[in-house]
Amino acid sequence: MNELIYVVITFIATFGGWLVRSLSISGAVAAFFVGLFISFGFAWKGLIILGAFFVSSSLWSKLQKHKKESVLEKVEKGEQRDYVQVLANGIIPAIISLVYFFSPSMLWRDMFIVAIAAANSDTWASEIGSLSKQPPRFITTWKIVERGTSGGITFLGTIASIAGALFIGIVSFVLWNDIYLVLISLFGFFGSIIDTWIGAVGQANYRCFVCGVETEKKQHCGQRTIRIKGWRFMNNDMVNWLSILSATILYFFVTKLQ
Ligand SMILES: [Zn+2]
Repeated sequence: MNELIYVVITFIATFGGWLVRSLSISGAVAAFFVGLFISFGFAWKGLIILGAFFVSSSLWSKLQKHKKESVLEKVEKGEQRDYVQVLANGIIPAIISLVYFFSPSMLWRDMFIVAIAAANSDTWASEIGSLSKQPPRFITTWKIVERGTSGGITFLGTIASIAGALFIGIVSFVLWNDIYLVLISLFGFFGSIIDTWIGAVGQANYRCFVCGVETEKKQHCGQRTIRIKGWRFMNNDMVNWLSILSATILYFFVTKLQ
């Protein structure tokens, strides 16, 4: 009976996400399955955490959209999340939930929270950080770069990143009481730093030979762009997925070694 309620809630939530254009159709289908897996493992508490991530991120991305146009010019995808973006953020939490379903333990639960905290931290950082009045600096060279450049950080974005991790930490703490709030939030924040770092050193970047802009898009001004740095397969989704994976695995080893 409970399972049926979760199916209905997850369906309504993802359908709503599609209605308000936060998700594409493929994104909504992927989000439905991610939500379903998470409800198997962590029931309504898991759905609340997932909802906290999804709703807050969608709200931030709609915030002062007109100011983000120069950033949208650079990044590969728009505001509406497709299935690849959803899975990049959701597949690790979904798998951990399934593992938890078959063998519940506090470690799996905490890794689940770290994964969502990392995803949330990174999303808040990019959505809020893109509104920074100060131009971003490149994380490895500290040189000023254009807005929307992967690997660029701002003070506002860093604060947003910490707040994003802490937000999931606090929601989880309210739900479970026995989690290490600071530790989990730290690992979430750490995931977002890894994200920026991989974005700086490995992410594919292209140049448009018509207008000269540096972009993550493979096409610009109706022409194919030329890759100027990074690995071809390393797009933003891959960077997201890798950073969430790294934060989660690191949490596993750090807590296991204690
Ligand atoms: Zn162009």
